Amino acid sequence: QSVSKPDQSVTPMMAQFLAIKEEYPSALLFYRMGDFYELFFDDAVAAAQALDITLTKRGKHQGADIPMCGVPVHAAEGYLLNLIRKGFRVAVCEQLENPKEAKKRGAKSVVKRGVVRLVTPGTLTEDTLLQPRQSNFLATFVQVRNQSCLAWVDISTGDMRYSPCPPVRLGPELARLAPAEVLVAEGALDETLEIINEAGAAATELPQEVFDSTAGVEKICKAYGVGDLSGLGEFSRADVAAVSGLIEYLSTTQKGQLPLLRRPVCEARDDFVAIDAATRKNLELTQTLAGERSGSLLSVVDRSVTAAGARLLSRRITTPSQRLAAIEERASAVEFFCGQSGLRGAVRTALKQLPDVERALGRVALERSGPRDLLALGNGIAQAAQVHALLAEQELPPLLKNAADDLKGFEALSDELDRALVAEPPLLARDGGFVATGYSAELDEMTALRDEARSVIARMQADYAGQSEISSLKIKHNNVLGYFIETTATHSQRMMTAPLNDVFIHRQTTANAVRFTTVELGELETKILNAAGRATGLELEVFAGLCAQVLDHAAALQALAVSIAEIDVAAALSELAMAEGWVRPVLNDSRDFIIEQGRHPVVEAAIKAQAETVFVANDCQLTSTNDMIWLLTGPNMAGKSTFLRQNALIALLAQAGSFVPAARAEIGIVSQIFSRVGAADDLARGRSTFMVEMVETAAILNQADDRALVILDEIGRGTSTYDGLSIAWATLEHLHDVNRCRALFATHYHELTQLTAKLTHVDNATVTVREYQGDVVFLHEVKKGAADRSYGVQVAKLAGLPQSVLERAKVVLEALERGEREGHSKQKALIDDLPLFSAVAMSAPAPSAQSELEEVLNGVQPDSLSPKEALDLIYQLKSKL
Ligand code: ADP
Repeated sequence: QSVSKPDQSVTPMMAQFLAIKEEYPSALLFYRMGDFYELFFDDAVAAAQALDITLTKRGKHQGADIPMCGVPVHAAEGYLLNLIRKGFRVAVCEQLENPKEAKKRGAKSVVKRGVVRLVTPGTLTEDTLLQPRQSNFLATFVQVRNQSCLAWVDISTGDMRYSPCPPVRLGPELARLAPAEVLVAEGALDETLEIINEAGAAATELPQEVFDSTAGVEKICKAYGVGDLSGLGEFSRADVAAVSGLIEYLSTTQKGQLPLLRRPVCEARDDFVAIDAATRKNLELTQTLAGERSGSLLSVVDRSVTAAGARLLSRRITTPSQRLAAIEERASAVEFFCGQSGLRGAVRTALKQLPDVERALGRVALERSGPRDLLALGNGIAQAAQVHALLAEQELPPLLKNAADDLKGFEALSDELDRALVAEPPLLARDGGFVATGYSAELDEMTALRDEARSVIARMQADYAGQSEISSLKIKHNNVLGYFIETTATHSQRMMTAPLNDVFIHRQTTANAVRFTTVELGELETKILNAAGRATGLELEVFAGLCAQVLDHAAALQALAVSIAEIDVAAALSELAMAEGWVRPVLNDSRDFIIEQGRHPVVEAAIKAQAETVFVANDCQLTSTNDMIWLLTGPNMAGKSTFLRQNALIALLAQAGSFVPAARAEIGIVSQIFSRVGAADDLARGRSTFMVEMVETAAILNQADDRALVILDEIGRGTSTYDGLSIAWATLEHLHDVNRCRALFATHYHELTQLTAKLTHVDNATVTVREYQGDVVFLHEVKKGAADRSYGVQVAKLAGLPQSVLERAKVVLEALERGEREGHSKQKALIDDLPLFSAVAMSAPAPSAQSELEEVLNGVQPDSLSPKEALDLIYQLKSKL
């Protein structure tokens, strides 16, 4: 079934539905009918399946049943969220008038309806639909001739940014921002759509006109209320197209209501450390390789206590800075709190009480707020003043000083909100009852009248009961009749005869009761209704007035929200640094990378949690004058990957403005971080392991500049030994001669260690192990020098490979090694001479001692042993070793 144009045979309501639906072909239409949003036709089929709700029928259209499903209005948010997560867009269509109004126009008239909002993944504002600790970005990518621009906005906070973005940067940028939705002009390249898809965002195609750069200038000026674009900053044509495209889309989806946009900020590319998608994934910055948040770097370092702080910290970690001054400012703020643990605790306790000012303000601007948002803002302001009071007396570093200054100056607004609102207001303004007594004299008067009328009714009921001598007589209220007098059928006869029928007018007879009214009751009812109506009206006026006052302070409140986040992040990073023994890194313009006693924050936390071993700290020294590259060898499981990643993470944390997990760190500003691991099969994209590895390695060799930090883990293992070795070899040479960047290169090709003789800036390092009674013991210590051998067989033993296979592997290994020493032809002869596997298996030492032990153990019944017997048993077992 598909939706078609209304024709003569459709009901007026269906005609209305079809007309509205036609304007929103790509969205599900939530069509308001009383207490439900109903969906029809294909929308109903899709929604019923996505939401797992019942699909029913309602009437016929062109001879066929109309499929229908519905969700109750009071629970609609949950369903909305579910649909948005599944990639749908939803047009919310409300009744725009009271059904009574429609009835007045004629029995067949339908209630006026219209779409009030288009809900899409990138345009959510409700707390219930958003993750408090994550930003929700709507982005757009626009190409105008040879320029291109990526712009993005978080409409819940109004943060708007743009950045020139050549198509090759789109993937990395989307990986950094993780937007929920990306807008593109119709006819966008498939590649662009694929990149958006891969970033996990919904792509929304819009007509070309939306991105018109000429009309765009005016759209932007209008949205920001400036006469000239230059007042907002520098914009290329592509920038204008992108920013104005976002504004236009916001205005369409919000039906003309623009969110509280902050001035667009241009993010210059070289302000930030460039980190591509593969590196982000590899380093598990915001989620693990398995896609979970827990176990990511962010989850380990995030000790923030406010949602806005968590969002800012996430931004710092995903977008570390390259600007020395900015980094130093942030680190100084962290350091300040390190020296003041008492103050830090007090500030954090005060911050913890803070509601999400940023998002509450955003809802006020979109006229989507309720009394609780105003209350949150009022409390937020008051709480912020407390934080200010805590910091005011201190000698603060500049960043904290500026932030603290933003927290004060709202006393009047705070008092106003405090006076105006009750302590526990309802969610929606139209429910009324949220204005505190004493705030508005007129409102108080109306409420008094309303309440007074209620006691008048009580008195009236007593009077009528006396007059009629029917003690069970009651005055009741319902929505159809309004106020009425009710008696049982037995008494009703008396009411309907003289003299009582002069006063009581019959209205309705039901199964058990008869209902009457009186002139007096009618008059009172009108008075009550007027008072109640007037009271609601007044409350809504108060609400609108308060919202306007809040919006008068919008810019300052946004600054307050940002400052709260800054203070929270500084205190949180300081809390982390003190708890985990991190130090402030020294950053400079050199190209050195000197880490003493560095640790991997996530692996260390995991080890700590299991309380089994301690993490072994390691040094790393790359300097432009000496070794720029360390070639790291050592057996599997020794800790090579951990060492590589920990150094990349230390650089990243340092430039994020954090302290770092080391005893000392001196880092020359890093411009790019690259991390590659000999990849696992990327079956989803139909590429072989090796192909992925080579594509990613190529990206590094083509892009890394001399300030890059590169970590390469087992590059080349996806192909045959000689191929892999030669590729690893050539890659290392290229990094050394051409890229001239700092790099850590882990490999299992021991042959590469000879390269240090040839390449002046490469040195060997190894992760040490000790052999103990045929087993390997991992020491996890990184030392200069090359690993002597790979201990693969020993590691395999730890993994539980059968004894026979291990024995065989040892024999083969010896033969191969001997062959290597004695020449290639000799190797073949040796291999040909190897006894067969079965022979080895059979001649393997009979596992005598072991089976004796097993024998004893097999006979033991642990449940029946006393502690003493158990101890004896251990002595007995030990003697058999
Ligand atoms: P490789 O890359 O050499 O195969 P990994 O870096 O994956 O080894 O490390 C293997 C395991 O060894 C890790 O999961 C971790 O538990 C442990 N490990 C690694 N480095 C250290 C260290 N410095 N201190 C303590 N344990 C470590």
